Amino acid sequence: MTTFAGSMGGTSGRTGNGASNGAGHAPAHDARPTIKHAVPLAGAANPGNTASVTTPGSFALKADIGGPLMFASPDTPGMPKASTKTAWDFLPAGWSVVNLGEVTIDTSDAAFTNQSNPHDTALNTSFGGGKFISPREFKAYIAGCVSRDWRGEVKSSHPHVPAKLVSAGGVGCANCLGETHDFVEFNLATGRRVRVIYPKNFQPRTQLEHARLGIITPQMQRVAQREPHLSPAQVRDEIGAGRMVIPANINHLSHSLDSMCIGRASKTKVNANMGASPISSGTHEEVEKLKWAEKHGADTVMDLSTGGNLDECRAAILQNSCVPIGTVPIYSMIIGKKIEQLDWPTIEASLHHQAKQGVDYFTIHAGVRKAHLKYVKNRLIGIVSRGGSLLAKWMLVHNDENIMYTRWDDICHILREYDVTFSIGDGLRPGGMADATDDAQLSELETLGELTERAWRFGVQVMIEGPGHVPFDQIEYNAKIQRKLCHGAPFYVLGPLVTDMFPGYDHITSCIGATSMAYHGAAMLCYVTPKEHLGLPKKDDVKQGCIAYKIAAHAADVALGIPGTRDRDDELTKARAALNWEKHFELSFDPDTARAYHDEDLDVDTDFCAMCGHDWCSVRISKEIQEFASGKADGFERVGTNGKLGAPVKSAALTPEQQAILEKRGVLSPDEIHKLAAKTKQAVATASERATQATADTKDKLSCHSDYVDADTAQRLQEEKLGKGVLVQLDVRPALGIAKEDRVV
Ligand code: SF4
Repeated sequence: MTTFAGSMGGTSGRTGNGASNGAGHAPAHDARPTIKHAVPLAGAANPGNTASVTTPGSFALKADIGGPLMFASPDTPGMPKASTKTAWDFLPAGWSVVNLGEVTIDTSDAAFTNQSNPHDTALNTSFGGGKFISPREFKAYIAGCVSRDWRGEVKSSHPHVPAKLVSAGGVGCANCLGETHDFVEFNLATGRRVRVIYPKNFQPRTQLEHARLGIITPQMQRVAQREPHLSPAQVRDEIGAGRMVIPANINHLSHSLDSMCIGRASKTKVNANMGASPISSGTHEEVEKLKWAEKHGADTVMDLSTGGNLDECRAAILQNSCVPIGTVPIYSMIIGKKIEQLDWPTIEASLHHQAKQGVDYFTIHAGVRKAHLKYVKNRLIGIVSRGGSLLAKWMLVHNDENIMYTRWDDICHILREYDVTFSIGDGLRPGGMADATDDAQLSELETLGELTERAWRFGVQVMIEGPGHVPFDQIEYNAKIQRKLCHGAPFYVLGPLVTDMFPGYDHITSCIGATSMAYHGAAMLCYVTPKEHLGLPKKDDVKQGCIAYKIAAHAADVALGIPGTRDRDDELTKARAALNWEKHFELSFDPDTARAYHDEDLDVDTDFCAMCGHDWCSVRISKEIQEFASGKADGFERVGTNGKLGAPVKSAALTPEQQAILEKRGVLSPDEIHKLAAKTKQAVATASERATQATADTKDKLSCHSDYVDADTAQRLQEEKLGKGVLVQLDVRPALGIAKEDRVV
């Protein structure tokens, strides 16, 4: 049996000699003279900073930060185009904005660089200052003075009044300036200057409102630190456009929340769902899962508790979390009642309570409308969203429109007060391949676009939830129709699963869809665990889900050409080329698993591993062929205990966590795992070696068995452990039910 699939040597990049231009520059198309078939480069930056690589960088579009595309995949023919509207087109009544044209940005201004700024120091802006505008300038914005409602219809009978002198000595529209209005001017990161006119004495509450006034908040600065390819001004502008959110409840900021952002201009984020159910788990377990999710890379966590003490559980999660916390408030609204008893006082009280506790984003299923329900009848699996099904029942019982829809403006007022971000729920999302992209789903999406516009008019940040089961070929359309109808508001997608017949493996089926969805436009991926559709995820399911989704998010970011996203991959590739195992583990996303899996077969730090063995290790052989200059990591050469380069050296004993990983796999016996943890020489030494080392062992029980000194000894080791004549040293015998003494050739 031979295998190449897992061989490091067999997975190297394409050949070619086009040098990378580094992050931030489009790869040079004519720098690849030996390529016979042109690769489809569309101008995206190389996601890695490694100076010289053979790959040309991303095939995605050139980055469009400050524009509707941000980081985007090229459109397959027939895909909906991005909306040309942004949150600036949906300002509150009494607001208007004037584009004053191109300006020269002073790049020494910290707002326009991505230098590290102190977390809590606000930058100076021109907020609140400035002069009144001249009559000539006034003409440019008079149309914008018209006050419109959320539908874009003219609301006030705002006459085109002649300019009049105001007390400050300037000139302005009587309806827009003077005693009732003020304005601020500032430069956008794209190099345009804008004037924003707003009601006098207006006090910003939300990140969106601050962005509209040109203010860079400490949270925006922190986001720019965490997203080094963005400047604080770009973060502010993406928030102002509604294409990015910072879910940071004013009250959660007083705990240990570390501000992050969600938007297609930034790296793709991952959400982990947790929460007690009426039959499983409790507050302590949920806090433990929260910590576990944070450890394994969750960027936000949703508490979806429907059982136990919901209030206590939510409070504990909020107090212990560094990441934003989301909830679906309808769950707590109907505890102990029937859904038909849901009324506005209950909704209002519950939203206020959870917002006061510090919840950073709310999923509200206001897009499920009475008129949409007829589209659900012919579905294979009807409505699979809990919130969606509850509200559908409410509408049928009351023969009325969705109360979340009719009370949307009131809900917006509450969320604005605490800067809670909307995660507008997709209550009619498909629950299977056969129901995907149907009339019910798309009709609801149109309503989600309308709700987005209305929320922006109230200054509330918005993201949009997306479908959980979508055939692979429909994913790009789903991402791009959302981008069009919701004007670029961040898309937050559950999976989606790309096949329905693998329960128990849905973290994999959905992670495939999630990678594609992130490449085509999703800004945050809600993880799916192996327990999806089967039960409440346990701690290890949370870990499996988080890691699967970190893979999906990261793969999409590299493909989109987000600067710097491939750097750690490149460092790991260099460590791999140098056969530097310690560095290899250190750079791994999950070092414990990488280390435990390595040591399960061969617990020696040497110039090969058990995948191919000494004789067949292409990386080791490649290192010997100097012409190809393998062993990329500078300065790493293993020096064995005999002083020889490349000779095996002692490796550390397994940690308890690594032992637990091997115990769960069940390949090694408890005794073998104990030996790897204790690192006694008896673990693998030959009888003769044990005899000669016996005295030394008595003095040094924990010394390593692996003081093999040269290639011959290393070869002998593999023969003794795995049998002479073995071609592939991966010990598959236990898994295949073959006796250990039998040789696999
Ligand atoms: S034996 Fe060498 S080539 Fe094969 S997987 Fe291990 S390190 Fe890579």
